[in-house]
Amino acid sequence: MAIDGPAGAGKSTIARRVAGKLGILYIDSGAMYRAVAYWARKIGVALDDMHRLEQLAGEAEIEFRDGSARVVLNGEDVTEVIRTPEIGEAASKVATVPGVRRALVDKQRAMGEATSVVMEGRDIGTVVFPAADVKIFLDASAEARAGRRLRELNERGEAVNASQVEGEISERDSRDRSRAESPLVQAPDAVYLDSSGRSIEEVEELVLKLVRERTSNGKGFRH
Ligand code: C5P
Repeated sequence: MAIDGPAGAGKSTIARRVAGKLGILYIDSGAMYRAVAYWARKIGVALDDMHRLEQLAGEAEIEFRDGSARVVLNGEDVTEVIRTPEIGEAASKVATVPGVRRALVDKQRAMGEATSVVMEGRDIGTVVFPAADVKIFLDASAEARAGRRLRELNERGEAVNASQVEGEISERDSRDRSRAESPLVQAPDAVYLDSSGRSIEEVEELVLKLVRERTSNGKGFRH
């Protein structure tokens, strides 16, 4: 199952809950781009050094542990350090590099081959699993997305202000939508859902309803 959409639409929350309900693995593909960006910053690789970034993405050993609650990069638990706005920004730059995308898409497909997954990101329904049983494009208004991201950062104790978060989110989204390689677009066969003004429970129920419809032919669930 594929859930794509812009930052702050609620993809992680919904994907995690739906995966829990269905008893299948949740994978946050954005965490993989964040992990590569974090590694590059840590060892001083420039974000425009495409060749080195591609190498890092290929060599990165990224594991999801405890039902994806923890993200581990080359043995180091990076769960918290990859969640800063700076790493989000760096991840969206790293994600424009074709070789980085190739390396991470390979890893994502391998995870989906091994078991049934709910994977969320920007290109899951279009590129990673174009044959996914269920595809959702989860969107929300710019205000709702910025508000959600601001609350998340505040809960983590980060000192950020609303206009800064709005600016960063809109810059990151326009980069994700306009890049040449696997831009953020809705797959033609994805179901569009707008989470603005809806509770988490409502969105979750809509997604589960769709899953029930799509898998009622006894085919079961693959991606
Ligand atoms: O989902 P999250 O905000 O953590 O993703 C961070 C960045 O990683 C996004 O802004 C996007 O540029 C990139 N990304 C991507 N393809 C994915 C998932 C994330 O390009 N499937």
